[in-house]
Amino acid sequence: MFQEAEKFFTSLGLLSTPPEFWKNSMMERPTDGREVECHASSWDFYNGKDFRIKKCTEVTIEDLLSIFHQMGHIQYFLQYKNLSVIFRKGANPAFEEAVGSVVTLSASSHKYLLNRGLLSHQHQDSEEEVNFLMGIALQKIAFIPFAYLVDLYRWKVFDGTIQKAVYNQEWWSLRLKYQGLCPPVARSEEDFDPGAKFHISASLPYIRYFISLVLQFQFHEALCKASGHMGPLHRCDIYNSKEAGKLLEDVLKLGWSKPWPEVLEKITGETKMSAKALMTYFKPLLDWLVTENVRHGDILGWPDFSCSFEEKETDRVAFLDLELDPDQAKFGQWMLLALSFVMFLVVLLLAYRLYTLQKRLLTQDTSAQDTSAQDTSAQDTSAQDTDALKTPPKAYFLGIAMEPHQVAKRQWMLLGLCLILMLCSISLIIRISTQHNRVPPWMRSDWWSWD
Ligand SMILES: [Zn+2]
Repeated sequence: MFQEAEKFFTSLGLLSTPPEFWKNSMMERPTDGREVECHASSWDFYNGKDFRIKKCTEVTIEDLLSIFHQMGHIQYFLQYKNLSVIFRKGANPAFEEAVGSVVTLSASSHKYLLNRGLLSHQHQDSEEEVNFLMGIALQKIAFIPFAYLVDLYRWKVFDGTIQKAVYNQEWWSLRLKYQGLCPPVARSEEDFDPGAKFHISASLPYIRYFISLVLQFQFHEALCKASGHMGPLHRCDIYNSKEAGKLLEDVLKLGWSKPWPEVLEKITGETKMSAKALMTYFKPLLDWLVTENVRHGDILGWPDFSCSFEEKETDRVAFLDLELDPDQAKFGQWMLLALSFVMFLVVLLLAYRLYTLQKRLLTQDTSAQDTSAQDTSAQDTSAQDTDALKTPPKAYFLGIAMEPHQVAKRQWMLLGLCLILMLCSISLIIRISTQHNRVPPWMRSDWWSWD
């Protein structure tokens, strides 16, 4: 992959890297157990022969293009190595970044990848072209607001506009304002998310990447023109073009010895930065997006957007389909257990009460029958009385006369029905209280606070 990038630069007639580069660079993650900082970087040791790249390379297209970028830095080092040390840097920091990136614009092209045997698909139809441009746009265009806000944040921290107490909050305000992004989970000042960005924790300026995004397309257009490229800018590949190489070489050789607008003029013919070339490069994608956005009625931007985390809080546990604090869930579980226990006791009490009532009834029944047996010998009983004593005494269930054992059976059934209805009611109350994931009133903290 490094040799492939080297081949690109030498094809333009530019300098090849010295043997020390291949000997001293760290191109892969060390396997000897050493802990290394893997963020890709290029180094000039200012002795005219020691230049190195540090990168934990994986075999992916992203890493291949990243190597082209780093080799762009090395080419700049090589070109200005004969200048006084004070001038051995880019015309401005963004130039250093743009040199590497301008080469990746050619190296990403369909023509180059096909040429180098990394693609087998001969033709690119208009859909594939839009897909290709969308891929590049997601890397480059989507990066523009981020590249801008990183230094905006750093500068605001340095001049005290952003106070220490709101470091994380202000980081996410900028992320929302410029990128339309919300953190995936709720954040607080206990977190320091900007520190996850290498350049923030390593205290490296970032605006160079923002400026470089504009410059690299200006350079690309100029180099393509020099190489004699005809047709859409995104199809241009300057591989093998000595004319483009010469133009680049003349500019790189100047290092920091001339003001950057002069250096810019040398390569593009203009003294001012302009996003015109960038717009030309993405023209087919822009046309497609405008049509699609109109077709779908999409609203651009996020004017009244805000991040809300009411239902996204962490450390929540599930309880009856609810997301609750662990303490609330625990309380709810105990409540349910206690309720079940109370209900069990009530049912037991009712059953006992019913049992004693039934027993008393049976006792009365038996004594009545005994009396009736004794009285059959009596001669002076009236006909009405005799009639009443012959049939066993009636019991009543809901006003209907029937046999006592039938009444007892129906009472048991009624108790069972009551129990089932009670269970249904409790289930329904719980379901109603928890509708739409609402926290039921008895589980809210203010329900239980007395202050
Ligand atoms: Zn770089």
